[in-house]
Amino acid sequence: MDLYTSLVAGVLFPAWEGTVRGRPTVTLQHHLERSQWRWREELEAMQLGALRRLLAHAWANVPFWRSRMDAVGMRPEDVRSLADYRRLGVVERPALREAGEARVSTAPPFPTISKTTSGSTSEPLVVRYDAGSEHWRQATKYRGYGWAGYRVGVRTLHYWGTGHPPTGWKRAKITADRALRRERWINSSRRGEAELAAVVKEIQRDPPSVILAFSQAAGDLARFVLDRKLRCPEITVICAAERLLPADREVIAQAFGARVFETYGSREVMLIGAECEAHDGMHLSMENLLTEIIVRNGDGSERPAEPGETGEVVLTDLHNYGMPFLRYASGDYATAMGRETCACGRGLARIQGVEGRVAETLLDGEGSRVSGLLPVVAVVYGGDGVKAFQLVQHRDRAVTLRLVVDALGPDLDAKLRALLAPHLRGVTIRIERVPEIPLAASGKKQLVIIER
Ligand SMILES: [Zn+2]
Repeated sequence: MDLYTSLVAGVLFPAWEGTVRGRPTVTLQHHLERSQWRWREELEAMQLGALRRLLAHAWANVPFWRSRMDAVGMRPEDVRSLADYRRLGVVERPALREAGEARVSTAPPFPTISKTTSGSTSEPLVVRYDAGSEHWRQATKYRGYGWAGYRVGVRTLHYWGTGHPPTGWKRAKITADRALRRERWINSSRRGEAELAAVVKEIQRDPPSVILAFSQAAGDLARFVLDRKLRCPEITVICAAERLLPADREVIAQAFGARVFETYGSREVMLIGAECEAHDGMHLSMENLLTEIIVRNGDGSERPAEPGETGEVVLTDLHNYGMPFLRYASGDYATAMGRETCACGRGLARIQGVEGRVAETLLDGEGSRVSGLLPVVAVVYGGDGVKAFQLVQHRDRAVTLRLVVDALGPDLDAKLRALLAPHLRGVTIRIERVPEIPLAASGKKQLVIIER
């Protein structure tokens, strides 16, 4: 660790977070650094305690959850195990959308942060949470990325698919924040020859210690480095936002060295799981989230997935009191792992092979690769009123964005076009309203379809 990194991590960042911004993120992070080494049973007991507190709050103060609990005859004080809690059933996005304000707590803490998410099912949902939940999210993220060697102040290149420019004071604050942390950001949505060459040049000019990238963007970058026989120093690569495919992991390791780490998160809850130095599955963020992998039977009943079995990822956000999320069906699938302790010694449970986060890659008019998450970004930033969406790229490379729309904003189409067009140069963009998005053969909704 160089002097600047230890100064930032040890002195400047805690002062900035704790004093300047009034956040207990650093205190929480210290707590999490210790709790990760506890036995699995202790961590599960902590989760159950946090869950019981959350249920008591939700029953007393959140109309939507009170009626859900009443409907199944559940009282928070009766929930003594995970099995008791499962009686609540799984809650899907449409039910949450319909509930609207009934999901907001009528007592403090109130939600102060609001986000639109698309998940992997392409149905946007507004997610809100309180300041306390934000501290947990940040602390959990720093701990998880820390397993890969990331620390605040380490030279980091974010090769990231979202580049929505903030404005005014927010922009100034973000710029100051990023400079302090020594972060550089490059938008990875367009991945043509010129863009990839520019990224490699930047890496060679001033090598970062860590690259934090969308998984498929990191794969494309690594392939470019290998194909052109370019030389890059050894760099830790943390992959996020999309599933890390085995073929991508292999080329990233060849291009940047073996320190490749997969992470799994979502806009709804932030970091769900992250890989440690043992590279054997991803440890769950157990202190902040209760993550269940379940299998639903034909009759509507459910059971926990067996080790090695793939099931649906169901999330409970343990510290969001402003707008609680209980047993939320994320739309992702993951494979359960056994209870054996990881070689690293951490007691945190693990999962592997998260599915449902692979978006097909698009091509622009010149044949340059463009992230399949582009329509997600467009809808998240410009798609108020969009209920569901899907993007189809036809054989002539023209694209059709299909929208299921709730309420019609007058400039919706123009906004979406303005967000898509710069990344899809030379491509005709059509926008179409449809009553619903049909399911793929797998039974899941596909974000992006490439007609071949
Ligand atoms: Zn481990």
